[in-house]
Amino acid sequence: MDLSLFDSRIFGLYSSNSQRVRRLSERWFGEEMFCPACNSDELDSFKPNHPVADFYCPGCGEEYQLKSQKTGFGRRILDGAYSTMINAIHNETQPNFFLLQYDPLQWTVSNLLIIPKFFFTESVIEQRKPLSGKARRAGWVGCNILLSEIPLDGRIPVVKDFHIQDNEKVRSYWKRVSFLSEKKSTERSWIVDIMHCIEELNKESFTLDEIYTFEEYLSKHHPNNRNIKPKIRQQLQYLRDKKYLRFQGKGRYQLKK
Ligand SMILES: [Zn+2]
Repeated sequence: MDLSLFDSRIFGLYSSNSQRVRRLSERWFGEEMFCPACNSDELDSFKPNHPVADFYCPGCGEEYQLKSQKTGFGRRILDGAYSTMINAIHNETQPNFFLLQYDPLQWTVSNLLIIPKFFFTESVIEQRKPLSGKARRAGWVGCNILLSEIPLDGRIPVVKDFHIQDNEKVRSYWKRVSFLSEKKSTERSWIVDIMHCIEELNKESFTLDEIYTFEEYLSKHHPNNRNIKPKIRQQLQYLRDKKYLRFQGKGRYQLKK
């Protein structure tokens, strides 16, 4: 993988920097990126202005959306219309998401991470305030993707601080969590939230009681559910069945790496 984004031909075609960034990052992505979900070493681009997704894999058909920015990935990522995102989550049409950070002085990729589509749930989408009366699109409601609510397992690094991760390692990270794709978004939302809570504990081995301490947090995300504890146990059992966790007996669990 070559991290250089610069292409003098494309650069010269545009005077607007945002268009340059878009075209340069798309060209780079199309040439350098492989499919994390299968063994395909290439991704193809959709025709310009294709709704939502930018690329697809000719091998497995997975779709990818690319978003580039020069600033680091903070707690939240600004995204498009809130209703479009929520509908895509409900209809299971949300593509996988690639987040690219570039260095604007050297025109190189500094960070690239993948958020697999099955980590998109309502819990990680924040509704923004409607645009004010004076704005051109007054009343329009956008959304933020709350990166901080997505477990680390759902933020797979391909490039980290200019360091390129091995392709097979990226694919193995994907594979480890791809069991989530078998669940509908409403059920997935519970599992992803529990994965997030486990991560917050920051322990390889933890107890059921420790996860119960997140009861209040979970009831905020799932206000219609009155049986938080049984729901927690159900998710832990599922994660154990999927070999994400190991049950050690006496209410103790261990993360499998
Ligand atoms: Zn593929």
